[in-house]
Amino acid sequence: MRRRAAAARVIFKMHLFSTDNDGTDKKSMTLCAALDEAAGFLKKAGIESCKLDAAMLLAKVLGTDRTEFLIRPGARIKICDYKKYQELLKRRANHECTAYITNSKEFRFLEFYVDKSVLVPRPDTETLVEAALRRIDKLKETKDEICILDMCTGCGAVALSLKYERPFIKMCASDISDAALAIARKNAEKHKLQNDIRFIHSDIFENIAGRFDIIVSNPPYVPHELIKTLQAEVQKEPAIALDGGGDGLEIIRRIAGGAKKHLPRGGCIFLEASPEQMDDTAGLLVSAGFNGVEVSRDLSGAGRVIGGVLTLTGESAKMNANDPV
Ligand code: GLN
Repeated sequence: MRRRAAAARVIFKMHLFSTDNDGTDKKSMTLCAALDEAAGFLKKAGIESCKLDAAMLLAKVLGTDRTEFLIRPGARIKICDYKKYQELLKRRANHECTAYITNSKEFRFLEFYVDKSVLVPRPDTETLVEAALRRIDKLKETKDEICILDMCTGCGAVALSLKYERPFIKMCASDISDAALAIARKNAEKHKLQNDIRFIHSDIFENIAGRFDIIVSNPPYVPHELIKTLQAEVQKEPAIALDGGGDGLEIIRRIAGGAKKHLPRGGCIFLEASPEQMDDTAGLLVSAGFNGVEVSRDLSGAGRVIGGVLTLTGESAKMNANDPV
């Protein structure tokens, strides 16, 4: 009820506008006032990041970046833009995430197109990229050609970031979802990396041939029953990118089990999983023939990425997450 009342108040204010021929009205709201009103509306709808989201959505409507409000705080919003803004705000109040509404998410140095076919890249996944980068830099000391596979690439955030930050690598990216691969390709084009990354449609290793020096993956790892308990925003993300089956480890199990055939001795795997899954994932890697298994922590200090080196049985290899082999 309270949400509806808030929505009604915002819509009512639209009638306070009267337009001039150019669509701008001296009596219309300033950008700052529209922003404050929107933040209040989102706050009442239970959106914690209400101010930031209000600003990002206004920037989307105006086709500008958020500095516009700082440079021209007294500028007025056109009624047509105000109406568009209300539509976006309603979507956000309905717990659609801001990235899906703006079709944009920044991850490391790049901006990615995202929509409902792909998971929105999370800051947690930077831990995966950083673990892989450390390994790449170490390998580079002794090897000219470094081949990497990003499995379950989604919008391509991990694959594109690695290729962008270490242009000398050979990068392949795979996903089971055609829709996700189309977005990953679109993002590669956006960053002029379309000729530098090979995209492969594959259910885990089904269509993958050959060996890689490093396999990275942020697979679906949420235990099936937990999905319905997640934030409303997350529940609007594709189940195929989140659902890791009964214990959340079904896909990780398949990746760990199949990786051996696609890595040389000394090849590495890095898998993102939840902090609670670190021990079980480590166990899966060890049973799959990996050694020197190490955990890398995310920005909140929780274990987020497991890395392992493929060794021959009985051989041991030490891999330190922060100080690579
Ligand atoms: N980190 C995501 C979440 O907690 C899950 C991502 C995944 O399953 N790969 O919602």
